[in-house]
Amino acid sequence: MDVAIIGAGVGGLTAALAIHHLGVDCRVRVYESAREIKPLGVGINLLPHCGRELTDLGVVDGLRSVAVEPKEFGWFTHHGQLIHTEPCGLRAGYAYPHFSIHRGDLQMVLYEAVKERLGPDCVVTAHRCTGVEEDGATLHFDGQHSRKADLAIAADGINSVIRQQFYPGEGPPVFSKVNIWRGVTHHKPFLSGGTICRVGGIFTTHKAVIYPIRNDIDGKRTQLVN
Ligand SMILES: Cc1cc2nc3c(=O)[nH]c(=O)nc-3n(C[C@H](O)[C@H](O)[C@H](O)COP(=O)(O)OP(=O)(O)OC[C@H]3O[C@@H](n4cnc5c(N)ncnc54)[C@H](O)[C@@H]3O)c2cc1C
Repeated sequence: MDVAIIGAGVGGLTAALAIHHLGVDCRVRVYESAREIKPLGVGINLLPHCGRELTDLGVVDGLRSVAVEPKEFGWFTHHGQLIHTEPCGLRAGYAYPHFSIHRGDLQMVLYEAVKERLGPDCVVTAHRCTGVEEDGATLHFDGQHSRKADLAIAADGINSVIRQQFYPGEGPPVFSKVNIWRGVTHHKPFLSGGTICRVGGIFTTHKAVIYPIRNDIDGKRTQLVN
């Protein structure tokens, strides 16, 4: 069986690894619109329920080598006064770890595992899917030949073309009237060195969420902080 996955983001690459892990006898191809897989993004938190899936897929050692395992959550008022802290991940008694990670690092760990296990040709870049025909599954691409598969999995992100094709009445994603500005900076470890700080509240004032995502980026213990 030929399985086509549309999108080599976090969901598409994880789906490819999961199919391989289940031992399904099939050939997997992941079609990605970008010309090159590059480590883009800023911070993402992978909570223990996600840690469980990634442990099953055998990528936790790779993640641990590039991510921060946070020690605690901390809530602060918008003046910076501590309200409450509580442990997270293994420290909170979960059986699986919690990682704070740069999205690009996560994607690259998944991408390397996909290439190693499913073959270097498994991810096909520069293929922007424009639609799928349900004859089995024929995938059409912008400026590229169509490809046939038995099954297609759409993992093409929040503005999914395939979702629009199958659910045309659904409309675009709904704006929740919350804007987020994202960025990273270099900083010495603060508080426990693994604190996920939530400062302020979205509906009463502005809120900042600050946490380290890479340890010791310069040999002087500086962290990359989201
Ligand atoms: C460049 C980028 C940076 C991001 N940075 C962050 C971040 O810093 N923090 C955070 O919390 N979330 C971030 N996100 C969102 C986060 O990755 C996703 O919301 C989440 O991981 C869900 O994963 P997904 O696989 O559904 O979508 P995504 O991770 O968004 O992946 C979708 C993939 O499909 C590809 N694609 C889209 N349309 C097509 C098409 N028609 N044909 C073929 N391929 C297609 C995209 O190029 C992308 O690689 C980012 C997403 C992207 C694309």
